Amino acid sequence: MSDSFQQALSDTLPILKKIRGGFGTSPTASLQAMEALQSLATRRPMSVSKEVVEKTPPSMVREEPVPHRQEANATDSGTLAALREAALVCTKCPHLVRSRTQVVFGVGNPKAELLFVGEAPGADEDEQGEPFVGKAGQLLTKIIQAMGFSRDDVYIANVLKCRPDMPAGVSGNRKPKPEEMQTCLPWLEKQIALIKPRAMVALGATAIEGLLGNTEPVGRLRGRWLDFQGIPVMTTYHPAYLLRNQSITEKRKVWEDMLLVLEKLEKPITEKQRQFFTKSG
Ligand code: URA
Repeated sequence: MSDSFQQALSDTLPILKKIRGGFGTSPTASLQAMEALQSLATRRPMSVSKEVVEKTPPSMVREEPVPHRQEANATDSGTLAALREAALVCTKCPHLVRSRTQVVFGVGNPKAELLFVGEAPGADEDEQGEPFVGKAGQLLTKIIQAMGFSRDDVYIANVLKCRPDMPAGVSGNRKPKPEEMQTCLPWLEKQIALIKPRAMVALGATAIEGLLGNTEPVGRLRGRWLDFQGIPVMTTYHPAYLLRNQSITEKRKVWEDMLLVLEKLEKPITEKQRQFFTKSG
């Protein structure tokens, strides 16, 4: 057996054993995990020739420390970039680790005044690694722009950072389970604590439940300010609901909620903006 193959085996086996022990299932590797292994392999020489070792004075031979990867943890991260690094390798929900393409952390201005919270990535988001990039996401982008912002001005994140898994061969999305949202919530809580937005918008009943634990129907909650640790949260319909229900009255309701958000942020509102989705607008 070659030195490099031997080295690769001794590097890999303890990791696989740890995974098996932790999950009680056969190890599987996500694309992300494989990319991480790949980059380790290219960063660190797998073997040093015998000749080099023999010619090196003993005082210069140094044991490379074995990197110790701790369980990814939201509370230890002091910056959004560090939090993102930790979240990207989270393994708290083994079933989602197995099914996800990648963790969808969040996107936008790390100092945003306004933070939008959705429920969970769908297939497009899982593929692209960015929240709200599918059809519902395109509508959310239009809403953000109609408010006078760009996606780079605000911050967009989901309660659940991994796409909810689906049975093999079944397409579409499923709602995140309360226990999945509960497990994932510390990432969002830490995002909010680091960004410190002046206001947030919770999009749809599932995001409202995941963020605030409130299970009242969104039709009753929307248009009202709720509170998350001192930050005002506007509740409104999810853009996917507006795609299913194209009526102008429902669009106007969401728009009225966004006008309240602009008022809360003390942004100027034009007459044209006030009239959107009315008979004169
Ligand atoms: N719906 C959500 O709630 N979040 C996304 O990122 C995409 C669709």
